[in-house]
Amino acid sequence: MLSDAMKFCSNCGSPVALRVPPGDTLPRYVCDSCSTIHYRNPLMVIGSIPEWEDCVLLCKRAIEPRSGLWTLPAGFMELGETTAQAALRETLEEATARIELGELFTLLSVPQVNQVHLFYRAKLLDLDFSPGYESLDVALFRESEIPWKEIAFRTISTTLRHFYADRKDGRFRVHAGEILQSERRVDATP
Ligand SMILES: [Zn+2]
Repeated sequence: MLSDAMKFCSNCGSPVALRVPPGDTLPRYVCDSCSTIHYRNPLMVIGSIPEWEDCVLLCKRAIEPRSGLWTLPAGFMELGETTAQAALRETLEEATARIELGELFTLLSVPQVNQVHLFYRAKLLDLDFSPGYESLDVALFRESEIPWKEIAFRTISTTLRHFYADRKDGRFRVHAGEILQSERRVDATP
């Protein structure tokens, strides 16, 4: 539940204790020196599925975790931005690619790493893309060319599988789901 232990209060530097505060239902890190209760909540990871004709743009990761494996452009949402802004920014940062954002496509909870992954469909506006700082390579893939065994995260392969299934059906809808702990691979950051 609380996968990352906290030792010291980020407000005053005193040691914290893990307990259920009065009126609460879950254990929190509590500071007895300054009375701060450290609430911690899941992080949002936002990305896009950039399409060009019958291809999808993927990025080869240059950073850990899963360096050298392929991902859709995605990353942690920043403070003060919307989910749409995060998708546009991450796509620009990782693939220097400009997109027109489409509909929300997947919303996947990854509770064992305290993350929620969210992907939008998108239209690539031009072919002027290149690897950003966090990518080794950026390329367009047809469905038959997708490197399924070299996909970095299960939220990415899940999103791509839904994408191709819906495209075959000729109808795209939102897919909400979860990647559970019992699964063989554990997702971390994208
Ligand atoms: Zn404190």
